[in-house]
Order: sequence, then structure tokens, then C-alpha cells
Amino acid sequence: APERDAVRDVVQDAVRDVAVIGSGPAGYTAALYTARAALHPLVFCGSVFVGGALTTTSDVENFPGFPDGVLGTELMERMRAQAERFGADLRDTDVVRADLAGDIKTLTDEDGTVHRARAVVLATGSRYRKLGLPGEDELSGSGVSWCATCDGFFFRGQDVAVVGGGDSALEEATFLTRYARSVTLVHRRGTLRASAVMQQRAYADPKIRFALNSEIAVIHGDTRLHGVTLRDTSDRRAPGRELAVGGLFIAIGHDPRTELFRDQLELDGHGFLAVRAPTTRTSLPGVFGAGDVVDHTYRQAVTAAGTGCAAALDAERHLAALG
Ligand code: FAD
Repeated sequence: APERDAVRDVVQDAVRDVAVIGSGPAGYTAALYTARAALHPLVFCGSVFVGGALTTTSDVENFPGFPDGVLGTELMERMRAQAERFGADLRDTDVVRADLAGDIKTLTDEDGTVHRARAVVLATGSRYRKLGLPGEDELSGSGVSWCATCDGFFFRGQDVAVVGGGDSALEEATFLTRYARSVTLVHRRGTLRASAVMQQRAYADPKIRFALNSEIAVIHGDTRLHGVTLRDTSDRRAPGRELAVGGLFIAIGHDPRTELFRDQLELDGHGFLAVRAPTTRTSLPGVFGAGDVVDHTYRQAVTAAGTGCAAALDAERHLAALG
């Protein structure tokens, strides 16, 4: 209740120049740049998801500068250390409330402490939608993936499956034919949602097979995925069908983490935070957006880091203009 909050909340004395919400590649890069610009950023890393989405995977082979690849967790620890080295003030806590209008923005953390800043970078990422099946999380990085661009290379010569029926699923399936021996597209309905062009391309591809009116019922594998059981959605009593696959790509959409600010800032038609591209400016002055919370197109660590850098520079310019 507001009254209780008022008693409990403690307002921190100093108004910060910059606060960053998020500790993925976008958040840590914004922290690094604003720290090196001597803006002493306060960085909210989150409480359970410190280091962001890359901490849920194993090898990352497409982040420049690591010719032998790097573990996702190690990459994020290195980014954290680099931001800290230049004085970023990192807090492993969630922001639970944000008031972003006005010259001074306020952010309330889990303990009820209220922090104030003149510029805020929002880098809260997005959640990949999951099937919700046993084994899905455990086998992430060991056969189960949410990103063909990231992981397709690991499945050379293998049979893989893609779940989903929209443009992203078909794009993933088509991309995977570069490496995989076969790609089975698994979709719940009898028709695909994807655009006609994408469908034509997929249907014309000899490597792509279609399991329509089908869903994944069981994921098989202890330390590595070795197959799935498909269930017929048009006849639930039909026996399950086994499909031996070394890779399962889940492409059923993602939800940007906009809960904190969706009633204060403009979102785009897909529900992502809207920015005035090519800048990272949002609909409120002094508030900038970076990484996957903004981006439903590229969704890569390096693009998130890139927009994190841009947000830091935009924040710097905003502060310079305030004087
Ligand atoms: P995220 O990394 O998602 O980080 C979001 C951050 O926001 C988290 O730190 C979270 O704690 C924080 N946060 C959210 N809400 C709050 C709050 N209220 N208060 C405080 N903090 C909050 N990309 C590649 O380029 N190469 C790969 O090989 C690759 N592999 C991947 C494998 C997997 C399994 C997954 C899921 C993704 C992979 N990606 C890969 C994509 C990449 O991880 C993302 O594009 C990237 O992490 C996005 O960075 P981000 O900083 O925008 O958000």
C-alpha cells in the first residue's frame, strides 16, 4: 500500500547522473561507457538473472574478440569486471518501481530504497517463450536452443526440429538448412502463420519437413538432447510419434521485459520499447533503451552491446545539455 511504502522507502541522498537497469551485454556496456565518462553509474543487475540471457548458454562463438569461443558465463563475468574496473556501482537487486517522467527519475529497489538519477538506461532484455516441458531448461545449450543464428553451426550434418509457425520459425528453419541434414518444422495447427513468401521458400526447400497439427509432448535426453515425442493435436488419442533429433530450436516468440515502464513509455507494434532510431531515445527525455528490450530483429549479444554503448553516449549528451 502507498502509505506503508512511504514509511519504508528510504530516499538515497545523492542524485546520480546515470542509472542503468540490466546486466546483460547492453546493461554492462552502458555501465562501462558511462563509468569511463566519469558519470559513476548506478547499475541494477537484477537479483536472479545477473549477467542476463547469455548466462543460460554454454559456448558463445560469435562474440568478436574470442577466436576460440567463450563460455556465456565467462563472457558476462568479464563484462562485469570491465565495468567495475572503471567505477560502475553494481547492485545485484531488482528495480521494482520506476518513475521516469520529470528531470529527476526515481527507481525503487527490492529493499524499498529509492534511488534518483538524471538519466536512465533501460536494458531489461526479453524472455524467450518456452514450451514448459521437463528437460527444456536442463538441455538448454545441450541441444535445446532459442537462436539458430547463435547455435546453428553446432548442428552440422544432424537432424533438427524447429517449433513454431510464424516468420521467425520459418526463418530459423531455412537458416538451419545450411548446416543440418534435415529440419522438421513442428507446428500445432494445420496451417502456418508465416508470410506467403516465407512459406513458399520453406515448402520449396528439400531439407525442410513439416509436422503440422503436432506439438512436442516429451523432450528426451539426459546430458544431451537425442529426440522428442510428437503428439497429434487434431487427435489427442493418437499414439505419440518419436522423432530422433540432435537439436530442438524453439521459435514461439519472446516477451520484452517492459513491466516496469510500459505505462510510461511508448512501445512499438510488437510490444517492445520504442526508440527514435538511430538513437536510443525513448518517448521521455533522459530515458534511453538498449538491447533486446528494444530489438525484435537482431537479438544478438554484440548488437545488444552496441546499443548499450549508443545509450551511454546518448545519456552523456543529454546530461551535457542539462548543464
Ligand atoms: P539480457 O541479456 O536478457 O539481460 C537483461 C538483464 O536485465 C538481466 O541482467 C536481468 O537481470 C535484468 N533485469 C530485467 N529486469 C530487471 C529489473 N526490474 N531490475 C533489475 N534488472 C533487471 N547471442 C549471441 O550473440 N550469441 C550467442 O551464442 C547467443 N546464445 C544464446 C543462447 C541462449 C540460450 C539465449 C537465451 C540467448 C542467446 N543469445 C546469443 C542472445 C543474447 O543472449 C541476447 O541477445 C543478449 O543477452 C541480450 O542482451 P540484453 O543486455 O539486451 O538483455
